[in-house]
Amino acid sequence: MEEFDAIARYFAPLASPGGLGLQDDAALLSPSSDKELVLTTDTIIESVHFLPDTAPEDIAWKLLGVNVSDLAAMGAMPLHYLLALTLPRGSKENWLQRFSTGLKDGMVAYGGSLLGGDTTSHNGAFVLTLTAIGEVPRGQALQRKGAAVGDAVFVSGIIGESYLGLNHPTSPYLQRYLRPTPRIALGQALRGIASACADVSDGLVADVGHIACASGVSISLNLQEIPLPVEAKALGIPATDLITAGDDYELVFTVPSSRVAALEAKQLPVTRIGAVVAGSGVTVYDTAGQPVILAKKGWVHG
Ligand code: ADP
Ligand code: MG
Repeated sequence: MEEFDAIARYFAPLASPGGLGLQDDAALLSPSSDKELVLTTDTIIESVHFLPDTAPEDIAWKLLGVNVSDLAAMGAMPLHYLLALTLPRGSKENWLQRFSTGLKDGMVAYGGSLLGGDTTSHNGAFVLTLTAIGEVPRGQALQRKGAAVGDAVFVSGIIGESYLGLNHPTSPYLQRYLRPTPRIALGQALRGIASACADVSDGLVADVGHIACASGVSISLNLQEIPLPVEAKALGIPATDLITAGDDYELVFTVPSSRVAALEAKQLPVTRIGAVVAGSGVTVYDTAGQPVILAKKGWVHG
């Protein structure tokens, strides 16, 4: 496969004007003065983050999704992407073609276009890195810090659908695992309302822990209030597995009590699941008000 031909064929159509047709040494970006840029990068590796038999279209969607979810958590709008691909030597052009199709679909869904990237090959697995660039009005980015004692805690969507899809591929949730849908619009709607926000990628409890740690507070969650897939019980999947599994790509956030009415007025797909209290760490309470013992809090980065 001739690398330059493949880039021109499959990636140049996805390029921003600043990408200069993916024909120059680097890209040009003109930031607007009333905005801040939000930048994030994530790598996914074959056999670590996706199974070797995953469709290239779905791999691209996931690579885009994990990055866009970080932008959503900051309340940002996606603008641009840089793509660094390390391919197994001898990869077929067909793989790049299918990958670029998934990338295009994702970019249509989330917004943003390609600024550039790098393509290399080696005697090893696929190692795929995407850098995402978004923007927020100056001073309005959501952060993990900012939660204060007395704030309410909310989560979007349903927690554990992706885990269910991965472990029970016959369930209707396989698509939730393969094609996560980051909460871009929600993140932007939370600007000026949420005091702290994170995306749920490592597992709900772990990501709530990130907010608690960054904010210097403790967070209490009520297990019976966390929205879980109704099928989980019949499949024998414990709630504690669902709230510590990853890949949900929902948003978890805190809201000062003075702004809860403003949040509710927006009628967003969110559920109140707990409260910010003094102390540190995360405690999950069962219906009897007893702390739930969790074997693990979530995905630990290896
Ligand atoms: P250099 O040798 O200067 O690093 P490259 O040959 O790596 O240049 O890249 C040439 C052009 O192709 C650049 O504009 C680069 O951004 C683009 N490019 C290379 N690989 C990719 C990719 N995977 N996705 C998007 N653009 C790419
Ligand atoms: Mg290069």
